[in-house]
Amino acid sequence: MGKRRISSIMAISRFLRTSFVFLILGAAVACLAQESTTKAAARADAAAAAAVPPSAYNAHPKLAVLIVIDQFREDYLERYRADFKGHGFKLFLDKGAYFPDCYYDYANTMTAPGHSTIGTGAYSNGHGIAGNEWWDLSRNKERPITSVEDERYALVGVPAAGKTAPGSSPRNLRASTVGDELRLATAGEARVFGISLKDRAAILPSGSAANAAYWIDQQSGAFISSTFYEPQLPDWAAAFNASGRAAQATQDAQTFTSANNLKASAYGGKSFYGFVGSTPAANAYELDFARALITGEQLGTHPVTDLVTISLSANDILGHGVGPDAPAEHAMVDSLDTDLDGFFTWLDKNVDGGLGNVWIALTADHGVAPVPAEAAKLGINAATIDLKKVVASLNEAMNAKFSPGEKVSYLFDRQELPYLALNPPNFDRAGINEQEAEQAVLDALPSAVDALSAPTDAEAKSKIAAPSQTRLPPTPVLVRAYTRQQLAAGAYPAGEFGEILSHSYSPNGGWYVMAVFADYQMEGGYGGGTTHFSPWSYDRHVPLGFYGAPFAPGIYHGRVGPVDLAATWAALLGINQPSAAVGHILTQALKPTASVAYPKPAPIHTHPAHTKTAAKP
Ligand SMILES: [Zn+2]
Repeated sequence: MGKRRISSIMAISRFLRTSFVFLILGAAVACLAQESTTKAAARADAAAAAAVPPSAYNAHPKLAVLIVIDQFREDYLERYRADFKGHGFKLFLDKGAYFPDCYYDYANTMTAPGHSTIGTGAYSNGHGIAGNEWWDLSRNKERPITSVEDERYALVGVPAAGKTAPGSSPRNLRASTVGDELRLATAGEARVFGISLKDRAAILPSGSAANAAYWIDQQSGAFISSTFYEPQLPDWAAAFNASGRAAQATQDAQTFTSANNLKASAYGGKSFYGFVGSTPAANAYELDFARALITGEQLGTHPVTDLVTISLSANDILGHGVGPDAPAEHAMVDSLDTDLDGFFTWLDKNVDGGLGNVWIALTADHGVAPVPAEAAKLGINAATIDLKKVVASLNEAMNAKFSPGEKVSYLFDRQELPYLALNPPNFDRAGINEQEAEQAVLDALPSAVDALSAPTDAEAKSKIAAPSQTRLPPTPVLVRAYTRQQLAAGAYPAGEFGEILSHSYSPNGGWYVMAVFADYQMEGGYGGGTTHFSPWSYDRHVPLGFYGAPFAPGIYHGRVGPVDLAATWAALLGINQPSAAVGHILTQALKPTASVAYPKPAPIHTHPAHTKTAAKP
């Protein structure tokens, strides 16, 4: 009994030992089987990836970054090229596909239309945004509404001491953006964001389906948003605002203004927006916020493509004050080159697989005119136009015609060229309809402009008596003008200029007459500075550059437009064109699909034993 017992215990023990060995072997076999399944799956994935072209649906690229420089004429990149170092602007000029001959094909070269065009691949007649602001009496009788203000929402994240203002949204944007199409194509899996100092420049290029857009509270510099997107700032954005970064930017701005002998408050005022915003410190500040956003929202880590639009505002705020030819502008361009180099290097280190898995596009929302006085010194007829006088003359003419002896304001006191906005209720009261009103303003406009430079009798006589020994001052010249109804009906002059005008029309806004002044002429009142608003080449000429796996590096001459950016990206992402897009795909700069290669993402963490086994032949 005892012996049997012992032997049976030994038998059990042997059984257990054997079982244990089997268990271990079983586990190992299961493990190997699992590993081989994983490897097979990986091979299948690789085969599938090879069989279908890279697109947004398989995260090619992982991240698309759209950089817009506000008020940046293309010729800056030619003029200052010798200064560029590293991979800032040179990423596009040397390693990307670069188009030096990119022009907006419309006449209303302002910030809101430009950013809308970049995002939508359409002109104002497609996306609906023709100006930064316009009169819409149904929404506000006191002042023009801005392109993105929306009283149905509230701002988010404004510091307690900040100014209360209506919320913002893309409600006036009548077309989808490339980001919207990316979101639609991936059922919202792709994540899309917009960043700028300016609300319109954050909201319009990113679009209606963007996860969020961020811009600054002008006084404090804190990044804010709108309840259209989210009820409160995400933690990473609140942390950025609390980090003291705005104070650092203010110090950096002080250094720049001293070094360039700029008056601290001459251009934008004393607010963060005006002071820091007119220096390169604002570009660095925005790019730091972009880093925080990309990290905080884990952009570039999703199974589909993510997209962020970054509009750098500083060039515009400084440019209005000093003009395109000032040494401070040169310093700004060089400083931006350094900041872009730093940002692109950061992307290379922080996106899975590096910069090879990122697309970056570079463009601008409009160019700018030279400072009129400087152009005039060279002999150009660069007059400034006293718009207040023009409006007063027009009001006088309208009163003489429709309400003799009265002083009715038939034109609004606040105007944004190239549009002269009419006040419909005041014409209504005089029994005048839109057609008669706009025609009357159109008829009165040439004499109102001529009156700005009419010589006195004495002057006129002295000129006849003795030809001038020096150059005469420039004189305002009205080239053409059109009523809103003419533009709406498509009554354009034949040829390319007519096309430019047709692209400028939008049904947003009320009655107006569009005035085209001679080239290099503009409204006065920029404190000795300059502006952009016209159909002339200097306002329309912007850079267009692409970096990314599908692009064949090179300089591509020939006319292209900013509308081509969204069109080209949409085609390469494999998604629908934005809803009103008219841009062309820049096929001349594309590699054959078969030769487009993306870096493999970093290997997913595997058990060391598996790695060893896998290494055996
Ligand atoms: Zn702008």
